[in-house]
Amino acid sequence: MEHLNGDRLMSYVRALADEIGPRPAGHPQEELAREYVRRILAEQGLAPEDIESIPFPTPDTWGYMTTLPTLLTLLTNLPGRTGLLNRLTGGAIGVLSAVALWLGIGGQRQPLAFLTPRRPSATLVARLPARGEKRQTVVLVGHVDSNKQRVLFAPPVKRLLRWSGTASIAVVALNAVAQLLGLEKLRRLTTLGLLGSLGVLLADEVQDFVDGANDNASAVACLLGLGARLLAEPLEHTEVWLAFTGAEEVGDVGMHALLDAHGEALRDAYFLDYEMVGAGQLAYVSDHGLSAFNRYRPDAESVAWVEETARRFPEFGVTGQPMVIVEEVGSLRGRGFKGLCLAGVGQDGWLVNWHRYSDHSGNIEPAALEKAARFGWAMLQTLDGKA
Ligand SMILES: [Zn+2]
Repeated sequence: MEHLNGDRLMSYVRALADEIGPRPAGHPQEELAREYVRRILAEQGLAPEDIESIPFPTPDTWGYMTTLPTLLTLLTNLPGRTGLLNRLTGGAIGVLSAVALWLGIGGQRQPLAFLTPRRPSATLVARLPARGEKRQTVVLVGHVDSNKQRVLFAPPVKRLLRWSGTASIAVVALNAVAQLLGLEKLRRLTTLGLLGSLGVLLADEVQDFVDGANDNASAVACLLGLGARLLAEPLEHTEVWLAFTGAEEVGDVGMHALLDAHGEALRDAYFLDYEMVGAGQLAYVSDHGLSAFNRYRPDAESVAWVEETARRFPEFGVTGQPMVIVEEVGSLRGRGFKGLCLAGVGQDGWLVNWHRYSDHSGNIEPAALEKAARFGWAMLQTLDGKA
């Protein structure tokens, strides 16, 4: 069967989402997913020494990153904390918390991660060399971990997602300002806001982890298919790295580990991030962000690359779509790297079954998987042809 065939790609999705199931960051199931990836790569003919594992510690849920700064700021408003010194220290903690929240929601490194319980995770990297002289590098990215079902992502509620991200940062920042300037009315009002925000953030944490068939076994499947195809037909001047990142759902921790280890070598590389491509219409994300303070875009060179590919291969119908999403392109752009995200867009304009229990293999379309993998192949051909 051909490497990018939809049914073949579907078998990878089933192994990850059905046989292994939910894959929380740092949990044994996430490690099982990496073992599965290693096994498939080995079956495809990749030598074990061509696969690198980059280990790192990670929290297992995104909630620490949002609840911790909110809670810390709330604590500085406890009754009895009056006087200039308390106000100034409270204000300073509030400012640092607002910055931590802003960094976290944007997929940047989290300054408060050291305060959270952490577990072992890793990013797997497979390098597929060019046939001839190497002139450029492409990193294909797909995360192996999965997220929880979340109340903030329920269909009627998700429309408020960007608003709630913005509000959660604003309420912490405003409380800090109120403390620093001694604005007692604003401080009381924002303390209530902090309580409400913390309540919502905690409520968002109480449900179970999802199978993650679309998010993001669909991406891992595409990378495995493209890896097999590249091993059979290497590109002429383009080296391709397959990056199976861990702990994306808790703040792109696996991408940061990859950049810490190989940032120097990847300074000029193209990063193509697959996110939830197992359903909906394939598109590239032209404008991302989970709050008004965290908008980010792909770099101009990557946009030119995808636009040229879309023009050469109009049958895919790929266009740029602004989306409410935060993923590893946020980390990449924040650290000055190139980055572009391919995603499946549902009929309502949103990612399909995003952080819902309905993100299971029964809702994956093999044709959508195949299209995403074939478009990735078309993108690689376009870039290699120009080298
Ligand atoms: Zn994802």
